[in-house]
Parts: sequence; structure tokens; C-alpha cells
Amino acid sequence: MTASHHPSSHHVLPDRPPFAIRARILTPLTTGGTAFHPDGIIEVNAAGRIAWAGPAADRPDRQDGTAAVPFPEVDLRPLVALPGLVDLHAHLPQLPNAGLGAGLDLLSWLDRYIFPLERQFDDADAAAELAPAAFRTFAAVGTTTILAYGAVYAASMEGAFRAAESHGIRAILGKVMMDRITYDEQIDPSTILDRSLRESEDLCERWHGAADGRLGYAVTPRFAISCSAEMLRESAALATRTGAWWQTHVSEDPGEIAEVARLFPEALDYVDVYDRAGGLGPRTVLAHAVHLSDRELARLVESDTRVAHCPASNLFLASGVMPLGRFMDAGLAIGLGSDVAGGPDPSMFSVMRVGAFAQNARRTLIGDPHPVLGPLEWLRLGTLDGARALGLGDRIGSLEAGKEADFIAVDAGLTAPVRHVDLALDGDLESDTASLHAGGAFGDGDDPADIASRLIFRPHPDMVRGAWVRGRRLEGPRHPN
Ligand SMILES: [Zn+2]
Repeated sequence: MTASHHPSSHHVLPDRPPFAIRARILTPLTTGGTAFHPDGIIEVNAAGRIAWAGPAADRPDRQDGTAAVPFPEVDLRPLVALPGLVDLHAHLPQLPNAGLGAGLDLLSWLDRYIFPLERQFDDADAAAELAPAAFRTFAAVGTTTILAYGAVYAASMEGAFRAAESHGIRAILGKVMMDRITYDEQIDPSTILDRSLRESEDLCERWHGAADGRLGYAVTPRFAISCSAEMLRESAALATRTGAWWQTHVSEDPGEIAEVARLFPEALDYVDVYDRAGGLGPRTVLAHAVHLSDRELARLVESDTRVAHCPASNLFLASGVMPLGRFMDAGLAIGLGSDVAGGPDPSMFSVMRVGAFAQNARRTLIGDPHPVLGPLEWLRLGTLDGARALGLGDRIGSLEAGKEADFIAVDAGLTAPVRHVDLALDGDLESDTASLHAGGAFGDGDDPADIASRLIFRPHPDMVRGAWVRGRRLEGPRHPN
């Protein structure tokens, strides 16, 4: 089956606001639970905000002159509109090696596949080549917000920000900081800390809050193994001073944890290394956090530190399986991350799928008593919870009036094991189309959990048909129109 034969491949997608889309709308709600409108409308005003969202039947009458701007309507049914996906952890320069190096442990994989690659991301030209393609790749799988690491080089980071600015994706990026073990052989060890701090501060000054808040800076010490205590402390102070995010890795792999204990004998545990540096808090996103002790978990919850759960990466590198239910019960603020290229696939649907399998494995293998998440809960983790982890829950993450219009249009019909025509409804093309518009002809029916389940467990590479940030359509999804 090719998408070009699919009835929904001919939609003309709106490029920029204002507009209204008519679609099947599926979204987590800020107040809890999920809304599903089989025939829904999202009105996006000229500023790229959601002016109204809900069932088409309840749409307020705009013929009476109350609307300041008319909303040209585009009918995208039977496509499903979802909030744009939020990827809390990725490495831009690593994308070319996604899927390579299976079977290695973290530290060997870094040496063999990653550091040589990041060393090539050393100037503006490298960024100009790679970054636009990377952002198109993320948009093509439905990611509209990304928190990502660059390499250690400031010039390539500048290029990556410029690429994000023109692409239109919502991006929080940071130049990687390393002063203990680094692949940057040009740098004088006696000046590396000062230089890294100065370059980070310069980038932060230029890009934090740029594009009217669509771009942000994350001060990015790579992880405790590659950073001195002083670099961790100074980088955390920089983030506090500037209001930027602070991101790093924690408790990913047993070998890494042992090495951190050796390097920081004064610390109680891995989390305490960052705590002593002043790195914990609501502007901090720690990737992985797989093997936390009870003390570490309690300290992260108490300090309101945010965690990027990266299950696909954790299984690709055999790092471990997070006890997700226990951590969520404890109140840990968690979203999802692809961790490309530690994770082999940039798709957040893929991350949800592996995460769900991993939790089922915990339950069957070691009797984890916590209930596993359903598809709508995974969808929430990859959208609204991710937005909240970034402190952006009031702006993005769900399709509700007042939020910025970051959303995707997904062809859920492509995820069905048989096409609607194979179901031989009644052989009448006209009523076939009517059924399509009612959304009932795909076998996913109008059950939001069924739709989410198919998107997560039977994904199709072309299913994301459009991705928008603030109502502006992003380049990336394969079939532009
Ligand atoms: Zn990572």
C-alpha cells in the first residue's frame, strides 16, 4: 500500500495562520483525562494561538462579526490532530549514526560511535549541513519541541540555532561542556573551563528566548564523568543567573555509575554530585535516571527536578529498565526522550512503544506490581507531561484554547492492518467516503485509546502528514500536500 493511493493523501495543509482545521481531535487535557472529538475544530488565530477547540457542533457562531479575523477552514478528516510531540532528550550531531553500535555498553559505544562523530560537528559548515536535515527528520515523525545537545563547538551550535530559527521547530539547545574527558583535542586543559563557560554564556545571550520564546538555551555539561566538580558548579550557576535550562545525564548505566562513584568519592550518590553543584531544580532536565536509589528518587522529587525517560536508548545500550510506575507514584516529573543516537529511532511513538514493552517485561519478569500505562497515558507523557517538564505546560502540550498551536495531523488509517476498502463496507464509494469522515472505517473506530494504541504499536513511516508550531507548518513530513 502506498500513501498516494490513500484517500487522505490529497489534503491541502494550511501553511500559516490564521486558519481553522476540521479533524478528529485527540488531546490530553490540562485538568486531567483526554478529550476526543470525532468531528472537531481547531481555530488558530493570526498570532498562532488556539482561539477555540472543540466539537464542530459546538463551534461558536462566527457569522455575527464577533471574530476579529475570519478563519479559513481546511477539512483534514479523517486525519487525527494531536498535540505536537515533545522530545526531552536528543543529540543533534549523533543523528547520522542512529541505529549503529547495538550490543555495546554506553562507554564503549561513546568511544567508538559517538565521539568521532561529534568531533566532525566542529564548525558552522557542519551545522549548516546537518542541523536542517535533523530538524526535518524530527518534524517528519511528529516532534515539534526538542531539547537537544550539540557538540562541544560553539560555531556549530550557533549554526544549529540558526537552522532551528528558520525551520520553525521549537528547540532548546546547548553546547556540550566537557573538561575532564573530551574529544576536543585542540583545547588547552588549563583554559577549557573558562572558554566553555564563556562560549555557553555567549550562545545563551543570543538565543535564549529568541524567536519570541520559540528557542531557548540549555546549559549542557555532558555528564559527571566528563566534567569536573567546578564545571558542574559553574555551569549550574550560569543557568541560574540567565534563567536558562540545565541538562545533563544521570544514572544511565551500571559502569557509568561506578565510575562516577570513583571520581566523586565525597558525594553520597550520583544525584548528589549534581545536588552539590547546585544543579537540581525545576529548570533542570536529567536524562535516563534508570537506577535511582530511594534517596536519589526522593531528592529529585523534593527539588522538583525533571527527568527525560529514554526507554529505547536504555534497551538499545542495555543500560536497564526504569521502574516507571514506582517513580511516577513518587511524584517524579517525567517526560520522554528519544536520546538519538543512544536511541535508534527519533520517533516518539517508537519511544512509547519500547517503553510500554519494557514495563510489561518488568511486570512479567520481576513481578513489578505497579499498573502499566495505557496508550493514552503514553501519549500524555510524550506531549503534555513533556511540555510540563520544560515548564511550558501553560503554552503547549495539549490542544486547548489559549495555547500556542503546536500540533500534528496523523493518518491513523495507515496504521490499520487492512485498508477500509478491504473491509467491503457495502461497495458503494460514496458511503465509503462518508464512513471515512465519520472515522469508523479504519477499524480504529472512534475509541481514542484504540487510535493511540495503533499509532504507538503499528506505526507507519508516512503517518505524520503535517506538523505545525504556532500554526506555521514545518518542513519535514514526507508528503507536503
Ligand atoms: Zn544522551
